[in-house]
Amino acid sequence: MTTPHSDTPPPRILLAKLGLDGHDRGVKVIARALRDAGMAVLFGVFYNGGDLLLAWWSLGCCACFEEGFVLKVKAAVLWEVGQPLDICEVDLDEPKAGEVLVKVGSAGICRSDRHFMHGDAPIAIPVVLGHEGAGTVVQTGPGVTLAEEGDRVILSFVPACGRCRSCLEGHSNLCDLHGATGANMLDGTTRLHADGTDIHHMGKVACFAEYAVIPETGVVPVGNDLPLDKAAMIGCSVTTGVGAALYSAEIKAGSTVAVIGCGGVGLNVIMGAALANAGQIIAVDIREAQLEFAMRFGATHMVNAADQDPVRQVRELTGGRGADYTFEVFGSGDTTKAAYDMAAKRGIVTVVGIAPWGQEAAINAVDLVRNEKTLRGSYYGSARSRTDMPVMVDLYQSGKLNLDDLVVRHYTLDQINEAYADLDNGEIGRGAIMFD
Ligand SMILES: [Zn+2]
Ligand SMILES: [Zn+2]
Repeated sequence: MTTPHSDTPPPRILLAKLGLDGHDRGVKVIARALRDAGMAVLFGVFYNGGDLLLAWWSLGCCACFEEGFVLKVKAAVLWEVGQPLDICEVDLDEPKAGEVLVKVGSAGICRSDRHFMHGDAPIAIPVVLGHEGAGTVVQTGPGVTLAEEGDRVILSFVPACGRCRSCLEGHSNLCDLHGATGANMLDGTTRLHADGTDIHHMGKVACFAEYAVIPETGVVPVGNDLPLDKAAMIGCSVTTGVGAALYSAEIKAGSTVAVIGCGGVGLNVIMGAALANAGQIIAVDIREAQLEFAMRFGATHMVNAADQDPVRQVRELTGGRGADYTFEVFGSGDTTKAAYDMAAKRGIVTVVGIAPWGQEAAINAVDLVRNEKTLRGSYYGSARSRTDMPVMVDLYQSGKLNLDDLVVRHYTLDQINEAYADLDNGEIGRGAIMFD
């Protein structure tokens, strides 16, 4: 007998144990599905023409299955008040019951975040800011019924509990449990960490990050054809501004309106006033370019408060009466007083801007009574996110809300400090971070 001759040496047999280290979600999802199906060990056999590789994955020993998945995500963290945002990698736990994991698509550059950076408003530190966002649901926690994987969603920074008195009375924007748990999840804990330190979630959204874990009531599914930057704006400035005009003040057709502050939210108040068919819409600001920009969104008159008394100007423009509806959208005690003073008899004064913590507005108490004025606040446009945000989407898609002209600058997450510098420098329109 002869031995068959071959030039090819017999295959060596290599053994390898493959770890499920790192943070490859795709591998982990497949592995977890196999484990859930009862497979403790998965073998693979590979032959590369020379060596035979016998590989196995030991599914039970991987710590990530016991502790849950931890994603490494890039985020902008505020470690200390007064410091720039730090772009770094943080740990994000997988969603717990009633929560979803969202791949963030866009996040708006809103002034509210700036207040926290400067210490003008209190928030738990360290924190990932970002409360105006939109993205795609990529994982749902146990028991989630309000969203599915693959849904494009607008993020709401008041994920209401649905069970407290405010929620039950129809004011989910004022949810008691959300208020009590602040920048933590509804169970009072955080999903964000770094080196053993808990990191808080602004508005339970924290969308200045590639991924975010959010309570399911904080995501509002919308059609996949809605551009992500426009969807993000609906998450704060649009709903806050248009809502203030329509749901808080309930502007009547033909009335006169004055809006102090023509930034992202102020422009939306102006659009809301236009939607309500107000007769006269007076934009008030100290920046000429911003005032001219406001004319594109429905303002009929502009008052530059940098070189003239805005109260006197608004009174002159309204035949001496003052405006039927006035809005404070800048955020200060002085502008709140100005909004009050420029209101007509029986005028409705709506304060939308959030003043630095502790500021007060001196209101003439006699004028309040004798002229039967109403002074009210408006938080998140007095809107109910899950029912009113889809209305904003419809208004945009039917051409009645001009969000296309509103978003004028796009940035990457790495450019976020530059984006806030542009906001501070009074650049017109809205900026938005775009993620891959
Ligand atoms: Zn905002
Ligand atoms: Zn509630």
